[in-house]
Amino acid sequence: MNRHADLVIARPEGLYCPAGGFYIDPWQPVERAVITHAHADHARTGHAHYLAARPGERILRSRLGEIDLQTLDYGEQVTLGDVRVSLHPAGHVLGSAQVRIEGQAGVWVASGDYKLEADATCTPFEPVRCDTFITESTFGLPIYRWDPPGQVFAEIDAWWRENAAHGHASVLFAYAFGKAQRILNGVDGSIGPIVCHGALAALNEAYRAAGVALPTTLAVADISDKKAFSHALIVAPPSAAGSPWLRRFGDYRDAFASGWMRLRGTRRRRGVDRGFVLSDHADWPALLAAIRATGAGRVIVTHGQVAPMVRWLADQGLESGAFETTYGDEEHEPEAVS
Ligand SMILES: [Zn+2]
Ligand SMILES: [Zn+2]
Repeated sequence: MNRHADLVIARPEGLYCPAGGFYIDPWQPVERAVITHAHADHARTGHAHYLAARPGERILRSRLGEIDLQTLDYGEQVTLGDVRVSLHPAGHVLGSAQVRIEGQAGVWVASGDYKLEADATCTPFEPVRCDTFITESTFGLPIYRWDPPGQVFAEIDAWWRENAAHGHASVLFAYAFGKAQRILNGVDGSIGPIVCHGALAALNEAYRAAGVALPTTLAVADISDKKAFSHALIVAPPSAAGSPWLRRFGDYRDAFASGWMRLRGTRRRRGVDRGFVLSDHADWPALLAAIRATGAGRVIVTHGQVAPMVRWLADQGLESGAFETTYGDEEHEPEAVS
């Protein structure tokens, strides 16, 4: 067996490219880390050098503090060791990237997290041809199929309008980074004022600085007349659910926006009035479409529904395998609360 054949291998610190001398989204401190995106399970503190896509720079810095960060435009190539590396849009959140590695043994692409559906808050997913594709599989089961995002935003608008007509504030829980900004961009800002939890403030700023259109958002401190809350949309991280921060909104209605809302019972477990199925991950058909579009003969699965995906790939006659990683999903991401 040629030990140089594999451009990426699993090591205790994370996924490692031996020919390039770097890790991809490592979970333990390393010398050189290529970061696919700024969600906490992929972007960690403690690495000596970071490489990431330029649109995510501000968010990475705001989440990780002082880091030695080199950025690349999408498609720009650098040489690391014996390989050439470039970053390509993953369509997941602002600045998210797939890592393309070209070496003697061919081309490998590590996807990080990705989605194919429309999202005006980040650059769309770009299919990249490769020999080996490393994929996530967060929603890698046939039950996961998303409705068109425009339809979901219309549902959110209708819920908000209905609550406002009855004098109830609408509290919508969504992950602070990515999902919240996608919702802000997608809803109809003419229905009423939009209030954001403090945990969203720096992230919203980073999106605006990157040129993403977000409507005017208020902090609770900006509202002196509490009656204004009665027709407001309040966007907050899931960690705010059940917290005293919500008391000021009076007799509010609440909802949660997540891909997990596709699962029966999740809404009830969360204890919210409504669930909106909106995910920043590929659903089952999109995972299969993305994998096919790479033309890869070998596919390695990192996280989520690993076993069903590996089985499906094998059934397609593809060489398939898995890397053990510590990546989770945003639902379990610790949220910064301020
Ligand atoms: Zn992510
Ligand atoms: Zn992830």
